[in-house]
Amino acid sequence: MNNMDKSQYKNVFVFIEQREGVIQNVALELLGKARELANALNEKVYAILLGHNLTTQAQECIAYGADTVLRVDSPELQTYTTEPYAQAVYQIITTYKPSIVLIGATTIGRDLGPRLSARIETGLTADCTGLEISEEKELLMTRPAFGGNLMATIVCKEHRPQMSTVRPGVMRMGHRDTNRQGNIEDVTINFDKSKFKVRVVKTVKEKKDMIDITEANILVSGGRGVGNAEGFDMLRAMAKTINAEVSASRAMVDAGVLAHERQVGQTGKTVRPDVYFAMGISGAIQHLAGMEESEYIIAVNKDKYAPIFNVADLGIVGDVRKIVPLLTEKLAAIKHQK
Ligand SMILES: Cc1cc2nc3c(=O)[nH]c(=O)nc-3n(C[C@H](O)[C@H](O)[C@H](O)COP(=O)(O)OP(=O)(O)OC[C@H]3O[C@@H](n4cnc5c(N)ncnc54)[C@H](O)[C@@H]3O)c2cc1C
Repeated sequence: MNNMDKSQYKNVFVFIEQREGVIQNVALELLGKARELANALNEKVYAILLGHNLTTQAQECIAYGADTVLRVDSPELQTYTTEPYAQAVYQIITTYKPSIVLIGATTIGRDLGPRLSARIETGLTADCTGLEISEEKELLMTRPAFGGNLMATIVCKEHRPQMSTVRPGVMRMGHRDTNRQGNIEDVTINFDKSKFKVRVVKTVKEKKDMIDITEANILVSGGRGVGNAEGFDMLRAMAKTINAEVSASRAMVDAGVLAHERQVGQTGKTVRPDVYFAMGISGAIQHLAGMEESEYIIAVNKDKYAPIFNVADLGIVGDVRKIVPLLTEKLAAIKHQK
């Protein structure tokens, strides 16, 4: 695709990840961002919706900002597997020639994105935290680099489309407007089934009795200052009092105190709760990357110079082992008064 005619490439496309027919939040977040980018370019937003026995998902895409939904409803796309999805999106991209393609950086998106960019021979910037249009109308893709110590802005100058993945929770979800009007185009894909190497025989779901930390309204998060598993029992007791979920810094995940799915930060999850309690967390840049957009941040740290206080709305200088039980008691008392 060298010396390509970039002027042929137009419009902002979003891959709509759905699982068992449910559109994943990251896709809706990306539709909101795509809307902003398309407005800046004076172009349109297209949603790429793949699946089988699809129902109202296309209307949902329009409500969240899509102008056109390219819908492929086919038994091959019932459950995600790499090859059928890659073939379908590849055919859509080569036919419709978008200028930008956005994909959620989920396990599915991380599998699909690189395969597409290799097939199309274009670049892919993974895990972007910022997307903007430059004065030259190019996509500026910002992401942490060098272990999160600086932010790099990457431009895909020679190739099209410009592709990027974005982690769930990084972009803010737009407003759902069920009165928005848009087009739904049913697209037929010519699958090369000889290339299908994987067949889903059975899906076994892990039983989960906890809410995903990206969906929690309140998070009580612990770091090395909390110390160990007993320290986290104290955080769990506090979380139970206020219907919160418990999360952690990488230090505590690496120490085996909590599972990786509970880690907040650059190599964990990006969270945006209404209230984020940072207990004994120093506030390293890689941790802040995952939580600084929280609505209200309350930090407890024995070091008054800890960087977490730079992003906290409320800071308490003190020992978590003393403050957390006191706080839990007070919160329980307030709850009983109600
Ligand atoms: C490429 C890369 C990716 C990374 N990704 C992540 C990530 O996704 N998430 C993440 O969290 N980190 C990540 N890190 C690690 C990050 O740099 C920090 O090392 C880590 O966040 C530190 O965790 P912490 O704040 O729990 O521990 P520390 O930095 O050791 O801080 C502990 C804090 O607790 C305070 N404290 C100690 N005792 C008490 C007490 N009794 N009461 C109150 N306060 C107390 C101390 O004053 C200190 O501020 C990454 C690093 C790299 C290089």
